[in-house]
Amino acid sequence: MLLAGAVLCLAMAAVGFAPRATASRRADADVALPRTIRDSMNAVFLASNEHWNELGDLNTLERMLGTVRPTQREYLGCLQGTVRDGVVRIDGWMPAHDMKRLQLAVTGSCEGVPRLLGTWHTHPYHADLENLPIKERSLSPQDLETLRTSDYAVMLVIWDVDSLDAAVRVPDGTTRHPAAVRIE
Ligand SMILES: [Zn+2]
Repeated sequence: MLLAGAVLCLAMAAVGFAPRATASRRADADVALPRTIRDSMNAVFLASNEHWNELGDLNTLERMLGTVRPTQREYLGCLQGTVRDGVVRIDGWMPAHDMKRLQLAVTGSCEGVPRLLGTWHTHPYHADLENLPIKERSLSPQDLETLRTSDYAVMLVIWDVDSLDAAVRVPDGTTRHPAAVRIE
């Protein structure tokens, strides 16, 4: 955004008169995500969210360990695409390698993924004491710190069907959160 603004100022100085409305051209989204790719993430969310409400009789440790019976688990994917005109344009994704999937965390590697832009992961529901869903609707502070200290341009989390939260890393190394996502 800063770079685009600087270029715009130079252009206006060269022309030498006030900008028209069309000159203030800030991209209307930080991230462009095709609908088909969003739908494929929805499918992964649904599969990895199964069993979230079937653990009511287990104690907290048993739930966290997830070894007594199948449970919901986070999932990690590697986002592919390009950054153009200040917009992160996602055009595909691949599963991370060596995924370690837990209820409240996931690890894995996106090394070797071509045109790597960043990562996406799921936040499955958690059951409260009445077995109602608690939804973690946002990237966590730890998620954002991971993005800030990475080389990645973007991080997405899917926390429900058609529901996501995004952050982008801008050129000065800080993160913009929440980032505006355009489904197209
Ligand atoms: Zn997270």
